[in-house]
Amino acid sequence: MSLGNFLRQMEKEKQVLHVKEEVSTRFEVSHVLKDCDDNGPVLMFDKIDGHTTKVVGNVCGTRKRLCRALNVGEGGLYEKLMEAWRPSGRTKVANDGPVKEVLEKTVDLSKVPFLTHFEKDAGPYATSGVIHAKSPDGRVENVSVHRLQILDKTHFAIRLVPRHLFNLWNMAKAAGRDLDVAISIGMHPAVLLAASSPVAFGVCEFDVANALMGGDLRLVDCEHVDAHAPAEAELVLEGRISTTKEVVEGPFVDVTGTYDIQRKQPVVEVVGIMRREEYVYEALLPSGAEHRLLMGLPHEVLIWDSVTKVVPKIGAVNLSVGGCGWLHAVIAVEKQVDGDGKNALLAAFAAHPSLKHAVVVDTDIDVFDACDVEWAIATRFQAGEDLVLVPNARGSTLDCSANQETGLTTKVGVDATRPLGKPREKFDRARIPVDERFERLVCRLRGSA
Ligand code: MN
Repeated sequence: MSLGNFLRQMEKEKQVLHVKEEVSTRFEVSHVLKDCDDNGPVLMFDKIDGHTTKVVGNVCGTRKRLCRALNVGEGGLYEKLMEAWRPSGRTKVANDGPVKEVLEKTVDLSKVPFLTHFEKDAGPYATSGVIHAKSPDGRVENVSVHRLQILDKTHFAIRLVPRHLFNLWNMAKAAGRDLDVAISIGMHPAVLLAASSPVAFGVCEFDVANALMGGDLRLVDCEHVDAHAPAEAELVLEGRISTTKEVVEGPFVDVTGTYDIQRKQPVVEVVGIMRREEYVYEALLPSGAEHRLLMGLPHEVLIWDSVTKVVPKIGAVNLSVGGCGWLHAVIAVEKQVDGDGKNALLAAFAAHPSLKHAVVVDTDIDVFDACDVEWAIATRFQAGEDLVLVPNARGSTLDCSANQETGLTTKVGVDATRPLGKPREKFDRARIPVDERFERLVCRLRGSA
């Protein structure tokens, strides 16, 4: 299963909007992506100024599309992900694959339509690169997504947050060598979602993707470096992360839609390029719907799992759009006793340490509808009793309002579930009773409006 397979499926379901006008990689593609951010279609840019390559974006931009990609209903998504996070088998390595149709003789990154996204960005960046690397003894493999700043025709700067790839880089450094990496771009959505999943160090995220794809993922060896790439990727950049050379990386926009600071980060030398004959370049807009979903959704799973352990019945979880898919959660629970709401809040904060504000509502509230959530707060919440305030907790480094020196923040939990001790009908939303025939008539009226 490839990105191409999924795009063909989406074409059939009329989920792809073709941008036929010629657009520039500098701001224009990102502007269109931003404009179609809210539940928008897959965007295929057919004509890119100065390039023959097409650019596709917003592939993983809605929950519905991610569910379609994983062949699961929205109700079963979290369970499916949890199961895949403990993969039982290894991914098969094939001898050849479509990604080896062209093995470029010379590396020239200026031929790839990398985008410049925002006004003050340091320059063009690759944002959908899925990076595979191994520990020096070959025992640990890791796959993760990192932003890459284009420096020249053969070099990137890579942002290494102190997580798994950073560990592997430190291990290579201790062994006195650079770290070989395969940077794969343009794959089935399951691969991006797996690479964004918070699995333990030592679990290879390609195996998670393989589990999500029902055992259909195939890998190939790179030509120049000791790393693997999906056989059906559109484009693979073979590289070495230097353990000696660093440059200033950034500024660049993160998931909050604000600029991340500049830091000294390692340089990647690209030593080989493998690609399909006619490859499609996959874009991913920083702070856009895809970025929020890919980062947030796996953490919704963690919250869901944690809250399920303290409140027997829970509904949906939403790391909301306004909360950057990262800092705000809305959780629906079926309260058994008063106090369940607060326990749900504590469980949510424990499951996702970056979480800053959380709201718990009853299951008659749509956690994906900000107005509905606000209505619950307006009619069911009393700050004197229902507020949980935790000053000086460890917060997210992405939150620009947190203390920038200590990283400390104040966490706020809002229990907007109705109190069980008071008459239920006081808190129920009033209905207007009409029959089905009349409801159909109203639907028709709405359709013609
Ligand atoms: Mn990992």
